[in-house]
Amino acid sequence: MNRREYLRMLAGLAGAAAMASEARGQSEAPKPIPSIAPPDPNTKIPDFKLPPKSCDTHTHIFGPASKYPFAANRPYSPPEAPLEAFRALHEKIGVERCVIVNATVHGTDNRVVTDAIAQSGGAYKGIANVNDEMSDKELEGLDKAGIRGCRFAFLKRLGGVGDMTKFNRIVHRVAELGWHVDVYFEPGSVGEFAPILSALPTSYVIDHMGTTLAATPDRVLWGTDWPHPNVKIMPNDGEIVDLIALYAPDPAVRQKILVENPAKLFKFT
Ligand SMILES: [Zn+2]
Repeated sequence: MNRREYLRMLAGLAGAAAMASEARGQSEAPKPIPSIAPPDPNTKIPDFKLPPKSCDTHTHIFGPASKYPFAANRPYSPPEAPLEAFRALHEKIGVERCVIVNATVHGTDNRVVTDAIAQSGGAYKGIANVNDEMSDKELEGLDKAGIRGCRFAFLKRLGGVGDMTKFNRIVHRVAELGWHVDVYFEPGSVGEFAPILSALPTSYVIDHMGTTLAATPDRVLWGTDWPHPNVKIMPNDGEIVDLIALYAPDPAVRQKILVENPAKLFKFT
């Protein structure tokens, strides 16, 4: 398999910080569970018009908890951000395709993602939370349901790499399905994790700022991180869309980031 590295340009610094704090929360258990802020409900209509088939490659759905209960050991309690709100947001900012990343609050129950994909008419794909205890049948079921990858955290302050035997087993199993692996770690640690990344049998996505955009336009993705769990300052998604024109003034580069790269990686048809 072709090994490729994709960098995901999240919604500015806030997005990158969100990934780090989401990840940090994951393994810290017995403290009281903090609640986090809801997204800005007054989404600005962007001035920048996204091209057709633009894909938000990092976005979440939370609940409703009555249907998709939050995991007991979740790192935070999110506001509900159900499919209806998700659809309304993406319609407002002009996004036609989405990759729904299952948040840590839903643990390895991936139904909140697969149910949304099933109702999307091919417009959504997903990234699941998995572990090596899952059966081949379960993983194949997720693949059939539109899951295209799974995510792992490598965090230095939690001891870095964790159980590499289990990790190696599961990444080889998902490689069989043609999935890619989403990885995230503290900003600045990319060099340290390079050996792990280069040994991966899959393509991988690093949640990271798009600082290398000019050099690698074929390997950059864009995402809002709506509804923005754990950010210090809540961004407005319309303004996030308008930032694209600043990051990527060249329409050909924008077409790659927004449409072509995600279509290829997540196998939209
Ligand atoms: Zn996120």
